[in-house]
Amino acid sequence: MWGDKRFNSLSYQLKNIFGEKIMKVSLDAGFTCPNRDGTLSNSGCIFCNETGSGDFAGTRGKDINQQIEEQIDLLKNKFPDGKYIAYFQNFTNTYGEVDYLRKIFTEALAHPKIIGLAISTRPDCLGNDVLELLEELNKRTFLWLELGLQTTNDETAAFINRGYPLKTFDESVKNLNSLGIKTVAHLIVGLPGESIDDMLESVKHISDIGVWGVKFHLLHIIKDTSLYEYYQNSPFKLPEMDEYVDIVVNLISYLNPEVVIHRLTGDGNRSTLFAPLWSLNKKTVLNKINRELKLRDIVQGKNYLSQNKIKKC
Ligand code: SF4
Repeated sequence: MWGDKRFNSLSYQLKNIFGEKIMKVSLDAGFTCPNRDGTLSNSGCIFCNETGSGDFAGTRGKDINQQIEEQIDLLKNKFPDGKYIAYFQNFTNTYGEVDYLRKIFTEALAHPKIIGLAISTRPDCLGNDVLELLEELNKRTFLWLELGLQTTNDETAAFINRGYPLKTFDESVKNLNSLGIKTVAHLIVGLPGESIDDMLESVKHISDIGVWGVKFHLLHIIKDTSLYEYYQNSPFKLPEMDEYVDIVVNLISYLNPEVVIHRLTGDGNRSTLFAPLWSLNKKTVLNKINRELKLRDIVQGKNYLSQNKIKKC
């Protein structure tokens, strides 16, 4: 169904749409976040570090074109004639004046190797003026918005200090869908207090509200975050690699097959990651997930489709 994979992957979709492999360049446009600058809170989501959840992006302070060149340069041996999506990653990339947003997004699109935009933000930072700009950009290029949902459980959301309720996410997805703008939900596996049922609930929710994509992250405990401090005082169980693989395979089976999977695990930074260190071995994790899907004869949406059939009966 999706090339050699048992799930609907981003690389498969991009190759289908553009006829070639497309990579992303991660950019830091110098934003902050209302959950860190005191508007909602000063501490941010408990897992977020000082880079605003973007460890591998371009150099903050350099202009967008320079950052794109810098990032393409890192990939040039592996990918000499490639085309790229400009991924505005760090902090909240719609939290600013619309004129500034227009300037940076337009600057990215002016680069000859950039064929689309991915913008990471919060659902409570999408006012009408921002939506108008996004609508305009969406007509001009391949665009998606990434929203850090992490969980649909409002109790867990309060614990991680996400700073908005589920209904804000739902309303934003509805607004973006009505403008034809694609959305990608981020979900975290392994949040303290969450059972497999909670994680399945999140997957079922995003399966039904019309998001275009999802990113699954393993909870990372990063040094110098509130979560790191919490973990030192109240250690909780983190999944082992095989448990994580088992959970992700289950989540894939309940995910709507139309939802594009952008990521199946997190990208840890060796110098700041405290635990779980096994996650640095990303290739092994991905291989295990693919092997497990095959062994258990699971394809994305297998349980989602059978459950929906039961509901209809
Ligand atoms: S919304 Fe994003 S940038 Fe803001 S505190 Fe949470 S993870 Fe960090």
